Amino acid sequence: MTIKKLFNIIILSVLFITSVGAVVVSRSITKTSKLIYIDPGHGGSDGGAVGIDGIMEKDIVLAVGKNLKRFLEQAGYEVMMTRNGDYDLAPDISENRKREDIYKRVDLINSSDCLLYVSIHANKFSSPRIYGAQVFYKSSSIKSMELAESIQETIKSLLQNTKRFAKSINDKFLIDNANKTGCLVEIGFLSNPEEVRMLRDDYYQEKLAYAIYLGIAYYLDKN
Ligand SMILES: [Zn+2]
Repeated sequence: MTIKKLFNIIILSVLFITSVGAVVVSRSITKTSKLIYIDPGHGGSDGGAVGIDGIMEKDIVLAVGKNLKRFLEQAGYEVMMTRNGDYDLAPDISENRKREDIYKRVDLINSSDCLLYVSIHANKFSSPRIYGAQVFYKSSSIKSMELAESIQETIKSLLQNTKRFAKSINDKFLIDNANKTGCLVEIGFLSNPEEVRMLRDDYYQEKLAYAIYLGIAYYLDKN
């Protein structure tokens, strides 16, 4: 990373910290619900995508989710997580763990009074050259689109390593069936050597979480 790039990131972070602090405090007072649901994908026997160095998606997304929880709570939000350890949400005895797990996640989100939810996953592709975080939303929800675009922008500004745009997505059970505003954040490609190296780094995980937090804060300020 060049010195200039590093400097830009530091300046951006300072600006974000000072501006968002004020924004979030004022909003959290006026809204009736302050609850945000974080959904770290996979868990337990379902490791999700496996990185080229053997790291599992379930572990990285949980780490980012926990960091995101901390930032949101510091800003005055209440946070619930669909999981906060290495397990899935299916009952002990289940004929279809994956299906019962995802049904439970949707149920938790829909039966809550959350302002919004964010599902966190990591990507994998056949070509190792593909990289970059990307945020997805339900095409029928304008609010979800706005949330996704806001998070995509803050990821772009803060991390400076993705040129991707927020995009609508179909046939993702959770996105299709969750009836709250929300989006799916694919935090990067575990199949890209450079990106997987960053994704397993504690500081990078924290920065990613902070970028998602800022995207949420900006979205909530406008809505
Ligand atoms: Zn996943």
